[in-house]
Amino acid sequence: MDLDFLQSLMGGEEMAAAEAAYQDIWVVGEVSGEGLTPATRALLGKARDMANALGVYVKGILFGAQEAAGSEMISYGADTVYLLEGVGLGSFAVEPYVEALARQIESGRPEIVLFNATSFGGELAPRLAARFRAPLFTHCIDLGVDEALRALLATVPRLGGEYYEILVSPTLRPQFATVEPGVLPAPFADPYRYGSVEHVSYDDLPPARVEVLGPFPEGLPEPPLSRSRVIVCVGRGVGDEEGVELARRLAERLGGRLAGTRGALDEGWISEEQLIGMAGQTVRPALYIACGAAGAIQHMLGIARTECLIAINTDPKAEIFPYADLGVVADAKAVLEALNAALAGGS
Ligand SMILES: Cc1cc2nc3c(=O)[nH]c(=O)nc-3n(C[C@H](O)[C@H](O)[C@H](O)COP(=O)(O)OP(=O)(O)OC[C@H]3O[C@@H](n4cnc5c(N)ncnc54)[C@H](O)[C@@H]3O)c2cc1C
Repeated sequence: MDLDFLQSLMGGEEMAAAEAAYQDIWVVGEVSGEGLTPATRALLGKARDMANALGVYVKGILFGAQEAAGSEMISYGADTVYLLEGVGLGSFAVEPYVEALARQIESGRPEIVLFNATSFGGELAPRLAARFRAPLFTHCIDLGVDEALRALLATVPRLGGEYYEILVSPTLRPQFATVEPGVLPAPFADPYRYGSVEHVSYDDLPPARVEVLGPFPEGLPEPPLSRSRVIVCVGRGVGDEEGVELARRLAERLGGRLAGTRGALDEGWISEEQLIGMAGQTVRPALYIACGAAGAIQHMLGIARTECLIAINTDPKAEIFPYADLGVVADAKAVLEALNAALAGGS
């Protein structure tokens, strides 16, 4: 097989030029109180795997003089981290952030730029993709690379997750993607990894057009149960208020919501809005933990499209078990206590 033929398979001269011009995978990170967000760590782990496959570097981007978070990025897979600093980059504002990133991308010419599909990534990624007339894959649930094409393979859900598509842009660079937080596995940190943290200063950025008046007032209504990824459901079998409180605590620890059966509603443990089933809400969480729920058909109708159902019931013949991905024949309160303790790091 001659070289010309191989090159034509890979997209010809245009492709070869694109390859020469763009390289490396960039991760635009986010920081919370305790350092990098878990989603940023996971994104770095994925970027590392893809960079190894392509034989390129992983570069991290953070806003502000965040040396500690920069070092953390290296421990999770980055080779170089750029800390973008300057007037207007102190706290989040669309215009200066987009401009600083655009300039950084213009000079660094990455082939792939990754964001989390958070409000932060959702503000920046589309604007940058539009500015570079480049492809943007949003709300990806997995990423990979086609080594022959040197192209990003973006797995995106369609029709609310009914099916998935793998999208690819064979020639346009850079490729932008936002990834759903929580879908990628958490990587291990390697505190001995070597890399460099570089300060980059931008002082002539456009001012923000939006004035931030302050944080959201407290007491905003919770998002609807139907949008919850995790639901802990109480049935009459949790026994009493103490059992309900244990379930509520577990839901909070998992970043989810408390709901219940008609039995729980009749006991006065949940409100009408929290009832799941034929007479209540239909939900489709990634994880539904049913504690002391019998599994009556009127209840099960509301959770028919749950991705993973865990049922805890003392009766091994309970109706709910045939529907469950994992069945636990045990006292609901005892299991809830153990789960809470384990998640709190107790046992
Ligand atoms: C028209 C109509 C509409 C309805 N709509 C709904 C609806 O939308 N949603 C709904 O939920 N129900 C609905 N129902 C009611 C439904 O038929 C059931 O009666 C109800 O779901 C039962 O609630 P439950 O599972 O909490 O209670 P129970 O039926 O009392 O079941 C309790 C379960 O807990 C188990 N248990 C007992 N002790 C423990 C323990 N220590 N640890 C663990 N497990 C234990 C038991 O083995 C049992 O399986 C409807 C009924 C009708 C007729």
